[in-house]
Amino acid sequence: MEENKPQLYTVTIDGIEVEVEPGTTILQAARKIGGDVAPPAMCYYQPLKGSGGKCRACLVKVAAGSAKDPRPMPKLVASCITPVQDGMVVENKSNQQVLDTRKGIVEFLLLNHPLDCPVCDQAGECDLQNFAFNHGLATTRYEEDRRTFEKHDIGPYIQLHMTRCILCYRCVYTADQITNKRVHGVLGRGDAAEISTYIEKAVDNDFSGNVIDVCPVGALTDKTYRFKNRVWFTKPVDAHRDCPTCSGKVTLWYRGEEVIRVTARKNEWNEVTEFICNTCRFEKKQTSDWVIEGPTKIARGSVISANKYRGDLKKPDFGLKLAASQYKQVDDKRDTSQLAIRQLPAERFAKLPSANEPEP
Ligand code: SF4
Ligand code: SF4
Repeated sequence: MEENKPQLYTVTIDGIEVEVEPGTTILQAARKIGGDVAPPAMCYYQPLKGSGGKCRACLVKVAAGSAKDPRPMPKLVASCITPVQDGMVVENKSNQQVLDTRKGIVEFLLLNHPLDCPVCDQAGECDLQNFAFNHGLATTRYEEDRRTFEKHDIGPYIQLHMTRCILCYRCVYTADQITNKRVHGVLGRGDAAEISTYIEKAVDNDFSGNVIDVCPVGALTDKTYRFKNRVWFTKPVDAHRDCPTCSGKVTLWYRGEEVIRVTARKNEWNEVTEFICNTCRFEKKQTSDWVIEGPTKIARGSVISANKYRGDLKKPDFGLKLAASQYKQVDDKRDTSQLAIRQLPAERFAKLPSANEPEP
């Protein structure tokens, strides 16, 4: 037997075996297999220590605890914080109880969530949209008033929309671990909990802009990019610069010849690979500031890579109508009344070109 080689654990997830090191979580083991064997994650964020265990999106069934003790675990467990055991058998997409529970989690996350997608900068790259589309019900039973909050100005670069926040704590961990001064956090408890600063303060550290990238929803958005475009009309390009503060490796988001946004690069799990500084993010918006590397490989779940939306900026209604037709093609069982297009006034909806018309 080879010395110094750690003993590996064999885990079976949705019938697929994988070998991982002790201490690996179920979620990380599932990501090693990849694809939709990996449970969804709204609060877990691998680069952030301590993240996970808040949103319950990644619940799975442990059908056998280990080779030594093959009894099933009595309740579903959060895969992002549960370490694997040798011989563990896990069911994710293959277990109906897991799928039914996820529908409930989506409904729960959306209880107080506004119907903002048509005007939300996160639309098209929103983890909550993807989660709701892939795992949710097309209806809600919620009839109460949604929560509202006093508006807080947290500085010149970052816009806080508290009504969209799902209290995942990612931005709090980011400020704790990436910046040297955290001035914001979760105030209050229960349904009074909110992201805010203790007294009206700007979030202005050199790396504070990273909270925008880690936010899974549109609760923290870039004020310099606000309402400039929809992400599926933009063209992402990898670029770098010699930056004294960060790695300088970014994604530039073009509209025509104009750089309308700069973000950190993300991996296939929509997680930042290297955090970037505010100078690169907010102040370098000229192509001449950057060395262009080439088109960005778009992460999974993106409407850009999935090509679900195509649009012509001169005829934006065409993109909407096409999206509606493709939605039906994706899943005929869903109620298309959930589509944002239904929020158009009826008379405007009637004027939209037919989805079957040839692309102009
Ligand atoms: S955060 Fe996501 S789900 Fe919520 S309004 Fe914005 S795009 Fe829609
Ligand atoms: S603002 Fe965004 S990142 Fe922060 S807790 Fe809310 S959803 Fe999470």
